[in-house]
Amino acid sequence: MIEENVKKLLSEIPEKNGFGEKVTLVAAVKLQSVGDINRAVAAGITDIGDNHVQEFKEKYELIGGNPRRHFIGHLQTNKVKYLIGKVDLYHSLDRFALAEEISKRSLNAETVSDVLLQVNIGEEQSKGGFAFEEAFAAYKKIVAMPSLRLKGLMAMLPFSDDLPLLVKLAEKMRGLFEKVKDFDTNAEHLSMGMSGDYNLCLDAGSNLIRLGTAVFGQRNYN
Ligand SMILES: *Cc1c(COP(=O)(O)O)cnc(C)c1O
Repeated sequence: MIEENVKKLLSEIPEKNGFGEKVTLVAAVKLQSVGDINRAVAAGITDIGDNHVQEFKEKYELIGGNPRRHFIGHLQTNKVKYLIGKVDLYHSLDRFALAEEISKRSLNAETVSDVLLQVNIGEEQSKGGFAFEEAFAAYKKIVAMPSLRLKGLMAMLPFSDDLPLLVKLAEKMRGLFEKVKDFDTNAEHLSMGMSGDYNLCLDAGSNLIRLGTAVFGQRNYN
C-alpha cells in the first residue's frame, strides 16, 4: 500500500513546477509507525516531516535511509532545544519569539538552522503564522538574526471546497514568494500543499509539498 502510494506519487508529481523550480515531496509522518516510515523511505521518499517533538525524538534514531528531516508542526519555544542540529528545515516559524529561540540555540550550538516563515494565508484563528500583510516586514527582520537562514515561505490553505478561493490564496502566496525572492536570493522554497490540495498548489507555484494521507493512507488518531 505505502510502496504503491509512493511509487504512484513519485511518477505523477512533476519534477518541476511551472516556474521551472524543482519540486520536493515531504512525507508528513505524524502518528505513523517507524516501520511504515521506513517503508516509505525504502520506496523512494527522501524527505520526512514531523509535527510533534516527542514523536520526533522517539523515532529519530530508528529511521533508516538518512532522509532529510523537516519540522512542519507548531513548535513550542521550550522544545526547540531537542531539535537543534537535527532538523534540516523548520517550516513553521510563526512568531518572533520562536525565531529568536532557534537563532539563540543555533548560535550556542555553533550551527545554522534553515527556516521558512509561516504565513496564515487563510486568516484562520486555528492556525499559526504571520498575517499576510505583516509577513514581508517580518521576513526582513528575521533574515538579520544570527545563525538562522531564511529559505522561503510556508502556508496551509484552509479546508474548503471553494476551489476559486483556494487558487486565489495559493496565487497570493506565490506573489509574496516572488517579492521575498527579489529581496533575498536565499529564498528558494514555497512550502504549500497537502494531500487534498497539492495539485492546485503546484499549479500556483508551490515547490514543496507535504503529504501525509496520500503517502500513508488515512491517519489513525486512536
Ligand atoms: C498533517 C500535515 C500535513 C499532511 O496532511 P495530509 O492532509 O494528510 O496530507 C501537511 N502539513 C502539515 C503542517 C501537517 O500538519
